[in-house]
Amino acid sequence: CGIVGVTGNDNAVSILLEGLEKLEYRGYDSAGIYVNDLKGKDYLIKRKGRISALEAAVGPEVHGSAGIGHTRWATHGVVSEANAHPQYSEDHRFYLVHNGVIENYKELKAKYLSNTTFESQTDTEVVVQLVDRFVQSEGLTTKQAFVKTLSLLEGSSYAFVLVDSTDPETLYVAKNKSPLLIGLGDGCNVVCSDAPAMLNVTHDFLVIRDGEVVTVKPHSVQIEDAEGNKVQRDSFHVDMDA
Ligand code: GLU
Repeated sequence: CGIVGVTGNDNAVSILLEGLEKLEYRGYDSAGIYVNDLKGKDYLIKRKGRISALEAAVGPEVHGSAGIGHTRWATHGVVSEANAHPQYSEDHRFYLVHNGVIENYKELKAKYLSNTTFESQTDTEVVVQLVDRFVQSEGLTTKQAFVKTLSLLEGSSYAFVLVDSTDPETLYVAKNKSPLLIGLGDGCNVVCSDAPAMLNVTHDFLVIRDGEVVTVKPHSVQIEDAEGNKVQRDSFHVDMDA
């Protein structure tokens, strides 16, 4: 029920975990993080229950400068480690966190993914497998595959942050009827369901509108509308202590 993301900060692990703690009030049944050190090592850790259980499972070797985190409120599939997010593609290239519900996930799975091996029962896994499928078999870039996948999600509600582990500094972000903000840091940028989750990093945020696709890198945030036109957006300042 909550999402966090960060790119361009060596303290990605603690930023994600502290952000998830701040989102605890939204309610959840499991939680997880994915982090990448940009030197070929990445980590996926998920646990049922409290954020403290997740924190206890994150050993000292786990580090990175880009990553995503999630607290889940199960809608499709039981509460389990496999169903917790981040969800990932069959080849472990793409990692995705999602709040919301994909209404037509069964139809999409039947139409495009009949030969794909699934490891969860979630509606979310269909989305990350679709992105991988469109990159692998149609030669699309990650952003093109993300945009194509979004266009197929009829009537669904979502906040998404997608990571391509072959270019982990870039976070791909979109939302529809679920909250999500971009936070602007100093040489790093973040994503969160709610500003309090990231006040340790920044007090300056950008609104994302439904239908926009946002590409977040350590030193840039690019917002595009549904037609691919660049959008200019002023940030707003949150006057509140962390
Ligand atoms: N529908 C997704 C699931 O059940 C996401 C739930 C949520 O918003 O946390 O895994």
